[in-house]
Amino acid sequence: MRIAVGQLWQESNTFNPVPTTRADFEHFGIVRSAALVEQMADTNELGGFIHSLRCWPEQPEIVGLVRLAAWPGGAATSDTFAWVRQEMTDALRRALPVDAVLLALHGALVADQTPDVEGEVLHAFRALLGPSVPLVATLDLHANITEGMVRAADALVLYHTAPHIDVFETGQRGAAVLRRILVEGIRPVTAFQKMPLVVPAERANTQDPASVSYALRERLQALEAQPNILSVGLATVQPWLDVPELGSAVVVTATDPELAARMCREIAAEVWRRRYEYLPELVSVADGVRTAYENQEGLVVLSDSADSTTSGATGDSTAVLRELLKYDWPRPALVTLVDADAVEIARQQGRGAEITTEVGGKRDRHFAQPLRLTARVENLFAARFLMSGHLARNMPIDMGPSAVLRCGSVYLVVTSRSGPHFSPQLFQAAGLDPYGASVLVAKSPCGFRAAYAAHARKILVVRAPGCAPSDFWNYPYRNIPRPMWPWEEIKTWAPACPVISSARPSFS
Ligand SMILES: [Zn+2]
Repeated sequence: MRIAVGQLWQESNTFNPVPTTRADFEHFGIVRSAALVEQMADTNELGGFIHSLRCWPEQPEIVGLVRLAAWPGGAATSDTFAWVRQEMTDALRRALPVDAVLLALHGALVADQTPDVEGEVLHAFRALLGPSVPLVATLDLHANITEGMVRAADALVLYHTAPHIDVFETGQRGAAVLRRILVEGIRPVTAFQKMPLVVPAERANTQDPASVSYALRERLQALEAQPNILSVGLATVQPWLDVPELGSAVVVTATDPELAARMCREIAAEVWRRRYEYLPELVSVADGVRTAYENQEGLVVLSDSADSTTSGATGDSTAVLRELLKYDWPRPALVTLVDADAVEIARQQGRGAEITTEVGGKRDRHFAQPLRLTARVENLFAARFLMSGHLARNMPIDMGPSAVLRCGSVYLVVTSRSGPHFSPQLFQAAGLDPYGASVLVAKSPCGFRAAYAAHARKILVVRAPGCAPSDFWNYPYRNIPRPMWPWEEIKTWAPACPVISSARPSFS
């Protein structure tokens, strides 16, 4: 038994003007063939696949395809898409014949002219595999699931958590679903419902008992534990995608079409009924920073969600930094920025030097403004670490040469490349104590809570300009289906949940 495993991972944000290119995937690190199985065995979904397959009594041969991953950012160029498809399909061609394929996908990768990259890749795989070889893919719950994706795969298995603390486990669940199809011979059917709704990420915290997402997550997990259900997913979608098939989705894969459709309808109806519970409470930047200053005991975390690098924003907004500089903080105020030029100037001048330079507003010139400041080069470091927690288990991160610039009590962590600009491990790599700060700015809408909820005295989400705004419905979208909530109020809507049979006409 030969089972191929591979990964394509990037979350796009079509408001980010900086395109994602092949170089972004290369910086993140491409791993192929046997090296993939060796290096990714304990990391994220691939690790979940590999760990599970190694426990199968059949002892399948695990064939590494390729891992193509890039940090969330702007839409990929057409050339990048052509290269991605070629890399993925060449890897599969080399691996054939195989008995099954497990793919770890994000589900919200957009390229110029190609709004559904994962759908295209799944179809290319199906064409190479033929109808009888099982193909199971995992997805982020911020995936923009399309009917094309559902038709090409035998099953789609989604994260259940946001913050995403179940990435490894999602890989294991994907392998378990594959086992039921490949070894037990189950022929799955999938009910699928796109919803005319996109919800902000800020309150969609599946780990917070006060959040609507907590109850939904518990329900999905309980359903998935039923013997006739293989997989239940609610994709609340990456909102910053101006693409024709944008929308949340429910996907239920089961052994029985009636059951799949009924469960799908029930979940979709509950999400629709409770949609207002997702609307976030936002404060102005000035109010958020002032509140942080007034809470001098303990840590206040400000979520600058509009500039979230985990949401594909540029990470070079200076809106919150500008406000932080107005105060003298009792302990460090920590904030991040992507600015390769500023890092280079700091490196040229050296540790301890005083520099005057413009920072930020170079990648995103629409929402972000450059800020001129005089600062001391407090530290020069390489932003390289293994990330665990939200999004990752032992995931290698390399944001390039980096610097800490200090302006009084404000410590600005500047990296050359985008990455997890919320991660406590980034601040620690910079030589700073994230939990001992007066205020910390997390460029993340929700995932940061996994790291800070237990440490922060207060958490506030600020309304700042950026490519990933919480109130996205106030921004100009041209291509999405209409009407769509919350862009428009929709009085009545009911899920139909059509059942889509497996792409394989018969199991052999
Ligand atoms: Zn996500």
